[in-house]
Amino acid sequence: MELGGVANWNGKAKWYEGSIRKMLTNEKYKGDVLLQKTYTVDFLSKKWADNNGQVRQYYVEDSHPAIIDKEIWEEVQLEMERRRNFVLKYGIQKLDYATISNPFTGRVICGTCGRIFGRKVWNSTDERLRRYIWQCNGKYPWKGKKGCANRHIDDGVLYQAFINVFNMMLENKNYFLGKWKEMRESDNALVQYKAKQFAKIITEIGRIKEFDVELYFALTEKVFVYDGGRLMVVLLDGTEVEYAVQNYGKNYLS
Ligand SMILES: [Zn+2]
Repeated sequence: MELGGVANWNGKAKWYEGSIRKMLTNEKYKGDVLLQKTYTVDFLSKKWADNNGQVRQYYVEDSHPAIIDKEIWEEVQLEMERRRNFVLKYGIQKLDYATISNPFTGRVICGTCGRIFGRKVWNSTDERLRRYIWQCNGKYPWKGKKGCANRHIDDGVLYQAFINVFNMMLENKNYFLGKWKEMRESDNALVQYKAKQFAKIITEIGRIKEFDVELYFALTEKVFVYDGGRLMVVLLDGTEVEYAVQNYGKNYLS
């Protein structure tokens, strides 16, 4: 069997994003084969072209042992589609830019104008006064259009919001477990997966006092920032939780 995308692998687990992505989108890896994917245009020149319906395609299920479990494969397709849609919707380049040290990149959205919030450093020269803040990318006037009036928020607010939202879910565990049980009946493999994963997390993990980046990535899709210090955290199961920044007036209205 041809391994295509895994060819880079040399026994030292050297994976490249490109080959993983190629592998995760190639149906061969889940054990199926789509025959006649390309077809010969001219038998003399031996030129091949993609088959866009000119020749009938045959989809053969279970033609060989699967490398990736079919269910996981289906979930991955849906997750990649979700990311593509997210990136298109909010005009960002790539959702994968979020990192462990800056997990909110590309995920904080302005509740006033719908654009992305970006992180800025204040007082970068004086360490004692240094602050990270998030503000709307549409803040400044551009091409004669007025800038967005939404105010900035402190970096720490986002971390605290996630901690509080997670603990709130724990306090309402039974409600959420009921909701996820229903979601497991869904036809959508990704919805089913998330419901299963969320239920597992909530039964295994207790109250948190500190931000946990792995937990955050597993649960959170985006955070909306509205005027007046109100946030809305949107989780990957579709749950939306409102959160009011404490002492917003005192700290942010200068
Ligand atoms: Zn805005």
